[in-house]
Amino acid sequence: MESFEYNANPGRVVFGGGSLQKLPAEVSRLNLSAPLLLSTPQQAEQAGQLKTILNGNIAGLFTEATMHTPTYITEKALEYAKAQKADSVVSIGGGSTIGLGKAISIRTGLPHICIPTTYAGSEMTSILGETKDGRKTTRSDPKILPATVIYDVDLTMTLPTGLSATSGVNAIAHAVESLYARNTNPVINLLALEGIRALASSLPTLITSPTSPTARSSAFYGAWLCASCLGSVGMALHHKLCHTLGGSFNLPHADTHTIVLPHAIAYNAPAIPDVMKKLSEVLPESDGNAIKGLNVLLEKLGAKRGLREFGMKEEDVDKAAEIALSNPYWNPRPVEKGPIREVIRRAWAGEEAR
Ligand code: NAD
Repeated sequence: MESFEYNANPGRVVFGGGSLQKLPAEVSRLNLSAPLLLSTPQQAEQAGQLKTILNGNIAGLFTEATMHTPTYITEKALEYAKAQKADSVVSIGGGSTIGLGKAISIRTGLPHICIPTTYAGSEMTSILGETKDGRKTTRSDPKILPATVIYDVDLTMTLPTGLSATSGVNAIAHAVESLYARNTNPVINLLALEGIRALASSLPTLITSPTSPTARSSAFYGAWLCASCLGSVGMALHHKLCHTLGGSFNLPHADTHTIVLPHAIAYNAPAIPDVMKKLSEVLPESDGNAIKGLNVLLEKLGAKRGLREFGMKEEDVDKAAEIALSNPYWNPRPVEKGPIREVIRRAWAGEEAR
């Protein structure tokens, strides 16, 4: 076995259907009494549910969480938290709301309890992405990691099938890249393969039976494992491309991940034969070919395959390639201009990865 280093992230996880009811116990466990509840406007009802569960013992409700965590919203939430004398934040929602919780927590030191409702995985990471004046920046700090994460499968029943599919593939992408991360290790490999297996086997069921308790449970379990991979090791080409594309051309997060993933893996494939073999073993119907397995999965999910379907222009392909190359990063296969442009062009056009 090759030598490795492994850092376990601190943080408590409470998983299961109905686990939302354990929120009061988790608040007390951290000696807190005045949480500020956070959500998007779309999930204000779920935030209201939290208020009921906490018997109204909250500092307030802030339901203006917004995609890409703009700092002007964070400033507004901070003022409200201060005025209401909040001693903690509880975020309920996807990566956007969790991002707001992290942004408040890192600025104030308030503990953060996180209740994810998508498969995006931000809850298990010490990474925060924020936008100011239209520019997205990312920072990492161990203090950003939420103190407690409650995964209540029941909350995912309302996640629309389209977002369930793409958010699930977003999670798979974290695990895939963790398998070939420069600082990967045997623990992360176990989590990653189990996470991909759980998601790849449950996501197609969610398309036909979105409220299947078994499939929802398996998908959320897989998402947790994949999120742990994202929170533990470095990401490479796939995440860098998605960051560039999402940030520069305002493309939707989960859809971009879904479209780019097979192309990014196909680019890296020649440099990672062992990973490709392991991947093919956890992707159903792959016949020993991970790219085929992924294409079959995306087909079953009915996912959109071209970035142009989200408004990206053909002339943006060159710009995206330039941005991707202007910011050098580690990748198992060196990032070269011509082949990377071709990866982006294929993803833009919606062609099959190869
Ligand atoms: P999102 O949080 O933007 O949610 C999308 C929409 O779905 C929102 O309107 C939300 O209210 C709604 N929604 C969420 N859960 C729902 C549910 N169960 N039922 C009904 N509606 C629901 O989407 P996302 O994909 O979870 O997060 C994307 C953002 O998270 C991006 O900004 C991305 O950069 C960030 N992110 C950060 C990290 C990190 O480690 N920092 C990791 C992953 C994603």
